[in-house]
Amino acid sequence: MAIFGNATYRVDGELGCVHFPGMSLTLVNAAVIGNELALSFADGFEAYLALPLLRRACPCAACQGEPDALGRVVRPKVEHGPKAFELVKFEQVGGYAIQPTWGDGHATGIYAYTYLQKLAKLPV
Ligand SMILES: [Zn+2]
Repeated sequence: MAIFGNATYRVDGELGCVHFPGMSLTLVNAAVIGNELALSFADGFEAYLALPLLRRACPCAACQGEPDALGRVVRPKVEHGPKAFELVKFEQVGGYAIQPTWGDGHATGIYAYTYLQKLAKLPV
C-alpha cells in the first residue's frame, strides 16, 4: 500500500482521458487569397478570414495575456506595425492547427482548427 502523506488524490475519469477538441477536423486546403486566408475542411466547412482579424485574434500568450496567480488575465497592449498583417507563411501543427508567420516576425500563435472555425463564424 502506498502512503501519500496527507495529500488527497482525486482520481476521476476525466484525468485519464485528454480530449483534444478539433482533432477530428481535417484541413483540406489553405491559401492566402488577396487579404484573406481561405481554408477548407474535410467536413465541407469553408472559412475566409481577413488577415488583420486573424492577426488580432492571435491566441498566443504575448497577444492575449496569461492568467496571473489569481486567474486574472491582463490583456497586454499589442502594437501592430505595418507588416504585422502580412502573412508570410504558415505551417500545419500536429494535424489540428496552423501556425502562421507574420511579416513582423511574429510566429508564436497556434490557431486550432476549431478556433479558426469559430473566428469564421463571428459576425462581421
Ligand atoms: Zn501572438
